[in-house]
Amino acid sequence: MEQILFANPKAQYLAIKEQIDAALIGACERGWYILGKSVEQFEIEFASYLGAKHCVGVANGTDALALALRAVGVGPGSEVVTVSHSAVATVAAIEFIGATAVLVDIEPTTRCMDPAKLERAITTKTKALVPVHIYGQPANILAIKAIANAHKVALVEDCAQAHGAKVNGQMVGTFGDIAAFSFYPTKNLGALGDGGAVVSNNSALADQVRLLRQYGWRERYTSEITGWNSRLDEIQAAILQVKLRHLEGWNARRRQIAQQYDQVLANSKISAPARISGTEHAMHLYVVELDSRTDLELHLKHDQIAAGIHYPLAIHQQPAYLGRLRGHAELPNTEQLYKRILSLPMYPELTPEQVDHVCASLQRFLEA
Ligand SMILES: *Cc1c(COP(=O)(O)O)cnc(C)c1O
Repeated sequence: MEQILFANPKAQYLAIKEQIDAALIGACERGWYILGKSVEQFEIEFASYLGAKHCVGVANGTDALALALRAVGVGPGSEVVTVSHSAVATVAAIEFIGATAVLVDIEPTTRCMDPAKLERAITTKTKALVPVHIYGQPANILAIKAIANAHKVALVEDCAQAHGAKVNGQMVGTFGDIAAFSFYPTKNLGALGDGGAVVSNNSALADQVRLLRQYGWRERYTSEITGWNSRLDEIQAAILQVKLRHLEGWNARRRQIAQQYDQVLANSKISAPARISGTEHAMHLYVVELDSRTDLELHLKHDQIAAGIHYPLAIHQQPAYLGRLRGHAELPNTEQLYKRILSLPMYPELTPEQVDHVCASLQRFLEA
């Protein structure tokens, strides 16, 4: 058996090569390369897929977060409450627009923002809460939304890992005031380059983001507000239109692979991701927990299987943030998790044989 890669966006391209190539050539031939028909249509299709009113395509997921935060009024002097268990982009976006990130701990089950610890992090300066639906697992979003409403602060969902995840049948990204998505190539919906989107049911907020993403323009060459350049390009949008049609099928395949892993890990010393009733996990990553994660990592490597760690350091443990983020000393669940996590290969293009190979390898590890 040849090496099983941890991620394989090229396999996804090859699986639908004809469709992607046609979209690519079509975008090239149309001759309009920035904010044209493909972006417009993709925005309509992605909003409709999510059951949201508006989608605004932007350059990447980090920008999507920064622009969403700016649209809800976050800026210098504002505090934004989020988690340390995320991609650094979450905190980078908050700081990039001059706001202060405040960290709260996660729940051990969802590994997402703990609503029970949220209220004590909120001050008079708090302008927004940014829960992250990490690994594709929806956060406890209804409890978080109730707290956001009670304190009159904006709710901004980081959906970069959760395209298609649901709570009570409703897509994540539609619970808060506004949401950010990333289309980085390995995400559940990934471009062949960078891309991102801001989604909202609030027309005024979506309108703000439309202005912010292009120099504050509503009419060309007239800046109504101070904006930025963060545009999704036509080629990526055309590719995303093709891939969006496959997203539900791909997510279903991810869940099927997860079930196979679950079966091997049931009642073992390796804990599988929790399944929360009423939620549908998008299975962006399948992250297990165990005491001896290095042993498992080496065992898998010996069997030609690449595992990952998401992430080796929590945000507050990264050199750039060490010791300076409010709340950093009160994250016991986050710190406990970081010593124990390992991500198994999880992408729809894994073949049945490859999944069987991973399962057999896990089985041998558990029996040893
Ligand atoms: C990928 C990711 C981002 C950033 O997206 P980019 O497109 O890489 O800028 C933000 N938040 C989370 C949780 C992510 O996984």
